[in-house]
Amino acid sequence: MTDSLLDKYLEKNSGKPRKKEVIAYLAILDHLQERAPYIAKPLLQELVDQKRRLKLIASENYSSLTVQLAMGNLLTDKYCEGFPYHRFYAGCENVDQVESEAVEGAKALFGASHAYVQPHSGADANLVAFWAILTKKIQNKEIERLGKKSPNALTNEEFEKLRQLLCNQTFLGLSLHSGGHLTHGFRQNVSAKMMRAVSYSVDPDTGLLDYGEIARIAREEKPLILLAGYSAYPRRINFAKMREIADEVGAVLLCDMAHFAGLVAGKVFQGEEDPVPYAHIITSTTHKTLRGPRGGLILCQPEFSEVIDKGCPLVLGGPLPHVIGAKAIAFREANTPDFQDYAGQVVTNARALATSLKREGISVVTNGTDNHLVLLDLSHLGITGKIGENALVQAEMIVNRNMIPFDSEGAWFTSGIRIGTAALTTRGMKEKEMEMIGKWISRVLHNTRAGLDPKTGEKSRAHGETDPKILEEVREGVASLLKQYPLYPELEI
Ligand SMILES: *Cc1c(COP(=O)(O)O)cnc(C)c1O
Repeated sequence: MTDSLLDKYLEKNSGKPRKKEVIAYLAILDHLQERAPYIAKPLLQELVDQKRRLKLIASENYSSLTVQLAMGNLLTDKYCEGFPYHRFYAGCENVDQVESEAVEGAKALFGASHAYVQPHSGADANLVAFWAILTKKIQNKEIERLGKKSPNALTNEEFEKLRQLLCNQTFLGLSLHSGGHLTHGFRQNVSAKMMRAVSYSVDPDTGLLDYGEIARIAREEKPLILLAGYSAYPRRINFAKMREIADEVGAVLLCDMAHFAGLVAGKVFQGEEDPVPYAHIITSTTHKTLRGPRGGLILCQPEFSEVIDKGCPLVLGGPLPHVIGAKAIAFREANTPDFQDYAGQVVTNARALATSLKREGISVVTNGTDNHLVLLDLSHLGITGKIGENALVQAEMIVNRNMIPFDSEGAWFTSGIRIGTAALTTRGMKEKEMEMIGKWISRVLHNTRAGLDPKTGEKSRAHGETDPKILEEVREGVASLLKQYPLYPELEI
């Protein structure tokens, strides 16, 4: 008997071709079990959990073993502030190559003229973009007006005025309840304090973006930045229309494609739905539909490339070269016909899931989807998003609660559930499976009731009860479905 995962794999596959990436992965796990059992234990448990649960979180995916393996090495030890071939540290020649690979890979994948691959996350990418726009459009002009060379040359008084000028700029983004991200001007987020944040919302009747209304607000507010992008909007954006609005009021069009970058990369969003030809700057994550390592990305038009490249060290801490290497791999993985098929299937699956849920009597925001996510409105079932989320998790279906437009339950309890198909599509599932999953979700939700709050005796917003027989039935269904679609099948533990 041995506890070694690698030994087990080698034994089981003796005489057969063995996969190097599996050997490497299992060797790492073995090593961690010996040297850092306190990390190996939850890590292995996470692998077990991901294998046995339906991952329906719209912002998550499964990256390839190659992407994951590329992050476990000595590149993590390198400091490389600056950008390729322009560093504040000596000894960056090899990291320069890694980062250039990622930059060129991103440019080729998206057809962009400039890429910046250092942001550690999507939120960081947005901070860099905000700062770059403020620098180029406001700070540099003000410094020039004062006849100075840099902020360092300003008097304290001049600098304080500049600071206030920057803070007083307006940006216009999608409100949180309509599907915008926290970094799009949510009051508790720093984005609402570094500038004056105003928002547009979806149409209360249709749940759709109303370009006439966005234009009206833009004319009134004259924002420096018009932000287009979302975390929980189940439809597409017309970027030609957004650019027209931005141009009319002299705003910079910033697109945050954190959620749908994979659908742009996979050529599902084309023409006016592709932000690359229209937005001045595009921010993104690399780990959602794009299926790369956890991280951020910025694409921009040439006029912004110089300021964007100064994101580190002026906004960000030191780059993560090991993650940048993994991004380079993910950009190449996404620049393939296979990935385009994948991206198309993600949307086909989301539509199949929405259709199934509607057929089962679940209310779907905007009555459907054109992207990778479906937003459910649970208010007609008399339960909050929090209760629905808990119920589905008990049936091994991992989703997250989410606000729906003009949500009356607030950001903590919410009235909605957000479901995404990016991860299950990576696992190989298609319409037939989505149909089944829609039925399961509906069965669980329809058989869940709000409990009574022990203090007030009123209907609880946090605790619900689900028929245990139904939960058991659905759990069995999930388990047998997942057997047909094993995650990382060679990684048996
Ligand atoms: C997820 C998301 C982000 C933040 O990404 P992190 O990597 O978590 O910082 C930013 N913007 C949008 C629209 C997102 O959906």
